[in-house]
Amino acid sequence: MTKKTETAIKPSRAEEYAEWYQQVVKVSDLAEKSEVRGCMVIKPWGYALWENIMRVLDDRFKETGVKNAYFPLFIPLSFFEKEAEHVEGFAKECAVVTHHRLEKKENGGLTPAGKLTEPLIVRPTSETIIGDSFSKWVSSYRDLPLLVNQWANVVRWEMRTRIFLRTTEFLWQEGHTVHATREEAEQRTLTMLDIYAELAEKYLAMPVIKGRKTPAERFPGAVDTLCIEAMMQDRKALQAGTSHFLGQNFAKASEIKFQSAEENEEYAWTTSWGASTRLIGGLIMIHGDDNGIILPPRIASSHVVIIPIIRKQAEQSKILEYAEDLKNMLKEQTYGNRKLQVEIDDRDIGGARGWDWIKKGIPVRVEVGPRDIADNSVFVGRRDRDHKDKESIKKDRFVAEITQILDEIQANLYARALSFREEHTTSIDEQKNFYDFFTPQNKEKPEIHGGFVRSHWCGSNACEARIKEDLSVTIRCIPLADENDKGACICCGQASGQRVVFAKAY
Ligand SMILES: [Zn+2]
Repeated sequence: MTKKTETAIKPSRAEEYAEWYQQVVKVSDLAEKSEVRGCMVIKPWGYALWENIMRVLDDRFKETGVKNAYFPLFIPLSFFEKEAEHVEGFAKECAVVTHHRLEKKENGGLTPAGKLTEPLIVRPTSETIIGDSFSKWVSSYRDLPLLVNQWANVVRWEMRTRIFLRTTEFLWQEGHTVHATREEAEQRTLTMLDIYAELAEKYLAMPVIKGRKTPAERFPGAVDTLCIEAMMQDRKALQAGTSHFLGQNFAKASEIKFQSAEENEEYAWTTSWGASTRLIGGLIMIHGDDNGIILPPRIASSHVVIIPIIRKQAEQSKILEYAEDLKNMLKEQTYGNRKLQVEIDDRDIGGARGWDWIKKGIPVRVEVGPRDIADNSVFVGRRDRDHKDKESIKKDRFVAEITQILDEIQANLYARALSFREEHTTSIDEQKNFYDFFTPQNKEKPEIHGGFVRSHWCGSNACEARIKEDLSVTIRCIPLADENDKGACICCGQASGQRVVFAKAY
């Protein structure tokens, strides 16, 4: 009989991936379900991740000239009706405010009263209301480019929700820009995609494929949607950020016009781009293991936890002093773009502390007890290694090398995710092989299967729709790299000029 290794999360990823995800969210203390249907409560340990993501993106946006602003949560129905494709795309997910007052009922309860003359939409995205402001702000080519971002919450009435991945309300940023020329707007769309890819790869340790959406998968009303796609550990794709070239569609809908240098009145060219708290769901699924989440140091809520091991009351003050001293030395260090963040966990709950921090995914755990003090050392565990794999390091050396250790963890997580993606990415040219690849052995309770498949596609909606219908597999993107590879469509056999990435997706 083989000895089964105990893990903190039940079920394991292999046993039941979806339930494993819910358990990790719970035990890692990131977030919890609220009493409001489909909405989440983001707890401090999870919100710190979002703050770090915001800091990275906000700095990068501003380096490219973007400024922050804030627009109303409510959008008049008439604004929303201006762009036909946009309305169609979001209509089913809209929360609508129809009343503005509550009245007491006879039984003591409350009932909505004061019907609004025009219903208000709770923003699912803000192109239309921001467009209305832009139409007033822009009159000459001298007003352009206009580069604005807002950090906000949005609401999309989802039928089936899952914390971080798909919630009725979520947090995001939405950038909106206005340009005098098509080329400049297209360039902006690419620039912002690059920033999302940099956040994903350098900070979240999440390898991504940059690509373009097919017309069927585009943002409603966009001319072109660029995206980054990452592979999760169940081999499904997660869209981790999108950047849209809107052409003149929204400028025409909102009357964003400008006087050109040649004194012609022209419609402007606009873009929009966004990333959301969904990224945290991606972080969990790409790096988590059967003991909890693993936080990449560059985005981690905190970097190091010091756990004092106190067995005798008499030793307590000496050990706590040693821990405090270590914390102060570490706090002086800078890692990435911020000061090292260090916790001391002196709760009186014994060995459970170590497991708590493993589940929460903190990159480095440091135990200090009487023997470590006598030896002027610390006992170090890393979240990218087995939980029992700990080593004694001299205190001074540990302090001197901590940023290097964090860099190693960061690099390991990225390398691990990249090799996983490569292992489960394949090119397929035969339709039967394609269908086999995406069909689980166990139909009732599908095992983890599939991956990313690079196959040829003729460009027709019909072929794309057929594969989606048959296999629940979609074209994740048409990669921006590796163009010009001639072949035959995996569905109909017609000529194709490029391979696209197919996968099941969140
Ligand atoms: Zn085809």
